[in-house]
Amino acid sequence: AEHPLFRRAALIGIGLIGSSMALAMRQHGLAGEIVCAARSEATRATALRLGLVDAAFATAAEAVAGADLIVLATPIGVFGQIAEEIGPVVEAGAIVTDVGSVKAMVLREVGPHLPLNVHLVPGHPVAGTEHSGPEAGFAELFENRWCILTPPEDGDAAALDKVSRLWSAMGAKVEIMSAQHHDLVLAITSHVPHLIAYNIVGTASDLEAVTQSEVIKYSAGGFRDFTRIAASDPTMWRDIFLNNREAVLEMLGRFVEDLTALQRAIRWGEGDTLFDLFTRTRAIRRSIV
Ligand code: NAD
Repeated sequence: AEHPLFRRAALIGIGLIGSSMALAMRQHGLAGEIVCAARSEATRATALRLGLVDAAFATAAEAVAGADLIVLATPIGVFGQIAEEIGPVVEAGAIVTDVGSVKAMVLREVGPHLPLNVHLVPGHPVAGTEHSGPEAGFAELFENRWCILTPPEDGDAAALDKVSRLWSAMGAKVEIMSAQHHDLVLAITSHVPHLIAYNIVGTASDLEAVTQSEVIKYSAGGFRDFTRIAASDPTMWRDIFLNNREAVLEMLGRFVEDLTALQRAIRWGEGDTLFDLFTRTRAIRRSIV
């Protein structure tokens, strides 16, 4: 048999994305051995029972011993802490990557803790569901989805190539861009939309004139789609907003301006303004589905 791409892969965090990677890597024979770090005994037991990993450790430092690929797959708020923990024990020549939804912060908070002979290749698979935890994963999650890699300018070319091949082998389409550009694009395509969903569901649940049961009863269409998005993991999303602050505030500023224009159009009965926008947005939808 051919050599697997990696000898030993260590997944730090084994939730939706970590468990999906474990399953996909196994299915495609990408690592000789797969191990994980999970803080709770229950998660470690689940990971072993589901056959996601060959071994499960309580700490990141134990999991990375002997690993040539390390994947940070926890909420991004703890990336810096994990990097600090693994920095002293990570093997020379190893590749450290991650799946976090914000990228500039990885270069800033993970990079400085790693030795010079360890290669950092930050990544973001643009794929997910509103479910979380080790039981939510499935091997096909990344198929035909984009995976964006944001290597540092002076990054190792061979390491980038290997991480690129890893994602391609799991079925993803790989794109390479700067971390800053990634964070700006994802602010408008993903982060602000989630904030809007959290906000509208919050607003509806705080109303006095409309009962909770009416909100649920009449939620077909519009509101229902928002509730699915607003069911996404609270820790993950808190960390995204705290760590992509500037780009989110920039895009939110644009959003609020445009919303104010719509508010004005409604107030003054400017039907053409509304109709023109709705026509334009319908064309966008038709071009993507
Ligand atoms: P998840 O909640 O399913 O899994 C995260 C896991 O990390 C949990 O099991 C949690 O217990 C564990 N964890 C937290 N702190 C830890 C620590 N210090 N050490 C070890 N484990 C720890 O979340 P997920 O959806 O798999 O997200 C993981 C990462 O992937 C996040 O950084 C997120 O931004 C990114 N991401 C998520 C999606 C998505 O749609 N869910 C998509 C792309 C990227």
